[in-house]
Parts: sequence; structure tokens; C-alpha cells
Amino acid sequence: MYPEGLVYVAGHRGLVGGALVRKLQADGYQRLLLRERGELDLTRQNEVEAFFAAERPDYVFLAAARVGGIHANDSYPADFLRDNLQIQTNVIDAAQRHGVRKLMFLGSSCIYPRLAPQPMPEESLLTGPLEPTNQWYAIAKIAGIKLCQALRRQHGFDAISVMPTNLYGPGDNFDLETSHVLPALMRKFHEAAQAEAPEVVVWGSGTPRREFLHVDDLADACLFLMRHYEDEEPINVGWGQDATIRELAYLMADVTGFEGRIVFDETKPDGTPRKLLDTSKLEALGWTPRIPLRAGIEETYRWYLASLQGLRD
Ligand code: GDP
Repeated sequence: MYPEGLVYVAGHRGLVGGALVRKLQADGYQRLLLRERGELDLTRQNEVEAFFAAERPDYVFLAAARVGGIHANDSYPADFLRDNLQIQTNVIDAAQRHGVRKLMFLGSSCIYPRLAPQPMPEESLLTGPLEPTNQWYAIAKIAGIKLCQALRRQHGFDAISVMPTNLYGPGDNFDLETSHVLPALMRKFHEAAQAEAPEVVVWGSGTPRREFLHVDDLADACLFLMRHYEDEEPINVGWGQDATIRELAYLMADVTGFEGRIVFDETKPDGTPRKLLDTSKLEALGWTPRIPLRAGIEETYRWYLASLQGLRD
């Protein structure tokens, strides 16, 4: 059983895949299968098929996806729907047919209805309308969960679905157009602090509430669930508490040393009013996260500063 066997991490260049590789390596996993996008295009069914037929991995972490923040989701709906459907269908289907022993599909908390009860239990899936700004991504992820469930029922394939809350950490995307809020604010506040700018503009009203989990905690949970979870129902992974975007902005100002004004641009969308996961199912299995928000942001900020230094060198 796992940890022996060949482990394929799909999406190892991303935030989640990168953290999974770090965690697997730290835990002594020797047999990791990784492919760059130029070597294997996961949106191409024939390439994915040939890869699984040739390499025959035993365990798969499916962390490859087209991801992005509220603006990217709203601007590129076709890319988010089509690319994610293609990637996940190709990988999950080929994994089942080529003898993979267990697969983990990574989803997102945006699969739950916009106005789901908070914190959101796994059972709230498909009980109400989705948040419109990221419905394309959410529909693709829901289809992925259902494909895992269907393959388990029809073929006994051990595919599990894990739903993380909003993630952050080293290796995140800091592009202001496409990133999520936490890296976007880190960059905005850092640059404003350096330039001694008078103000930073934060999108929306500042009142939406989001839950943030450090990606190293997620990677730890993923390895735990690969060993201890075997069920067709998705399972949530979160920090357990949320914060307003306003609170996040003030925290980021403090960490980066920004002393100017914080302005909220209410012409930009707020998205879902609140996203907090109910993690009681995971806690009952015996796993809890370890990295508090401020400590996680400080660590990510050190990584960000080092990566900027790397670019300059
Ligand atoms: P969401 O969790 O899917 O809504 O995605 P985001 O992480 O992109 O956005 C979370 C919240 O942060 C939304 O209410 C955004 O309007 C707000 N926000 C404030 N400033 C920014 C920013 O600079 N970038 C992003 N992506 N979101 C921001």
C-alpha cells in the first residue's frame, strides 16, 4: 500500500502541487512522477492516455487545474469551464483504466451554493444556486466529484475528492489581474510600502468573509487523507475561522510595513458574502491544521521577498 508505489502529482508547478511535492519529499517518498506542461498537455486526451499507459502510476494527486481569482474567473469563463473539464476527465478516466490504485481529486470551496449555511458542510453540495462569478469553475469541479463517485460505484475505483478552502503560501500567483486576494494584497501593500505611496486600493466593499489555509497544511491533510479516507463523499479541508477582506488588508499592511490609507473600490465585485468550511468530518478523522494566518502570511512574505531578490540577481 501507499507509501510504496509510484506517485504522480499532476500540476506540480502550481501552489498545491508544489506543496504536495515538498511534503512527499520531506516524508521520504522516493518514487515521484512529475511532468512539465511542455512534456504533457493534460487537456489533450491522447497525450494523457499515452502517459498513463507507459508510466502506470500507482497513486495520483490531481492538483492540475486552471485556477484564478475573482477577476480571472469572471473574464475567462470558457477557459475555466473547458480546461478544467478536459484536464480532470482525461486524468481521472485514464487513471481508472490503467490500474491506478487510488486517486485524489482536488476541488474548491466554491462548489457549494452561494448562500449555503455557514460553516458549509459537505452535504450542502447541490442544494442551491452557485456564486455567479466563479460558477464555471465550480461546475467543472462538481463534475469532477461526480466522475469520481460514478467510477467508484460502477468500477470500484478508489477515487476521493478533497475540497480545500481559499489557499495561500509559497509558489502562489502574484499577478494582480489573475491572482486570488491574499497574494494580490501582499504584492499591492509591499509595492506601496516600498514606494511610500499614500494609498492602496482593495477591491470590493471589504465586508466579504474568507477562510485562508496555508498550502503546507493542505498538503499535510492530503497525505493524511490518501492514507485514511476512502469514501465517495467529498471531504472539506479548512482552517476553521474566517476573516473579512478588510481585516486581511489591515493585517497585510502591518506585515509589509505600509502606513498609508486603505481605500475600498466598490465598483469591483465582492463575490460570495462568506466562505467558511465545516471541517468537522476531517477533525473527526483526527487531522487539524497548524499554521495560523499571521504566521503563514509572514512566512509567505519572506518567500515573496526572496523570490523578488532572485529575479533581481
Ligand atoms: P473568491 O474567494 O473566489 O471570491 O476569490 P478572490 O480571492 O479573488 O477574492 C476574494 C475577495 O477579495 C473578493 O471579495 C474580492 O473582491 C476581494 N479582493 C479585494 N482586493 C482584491 C484583489 O486585489 N484581488 C483579488 N483577486 N480579490 C480582491
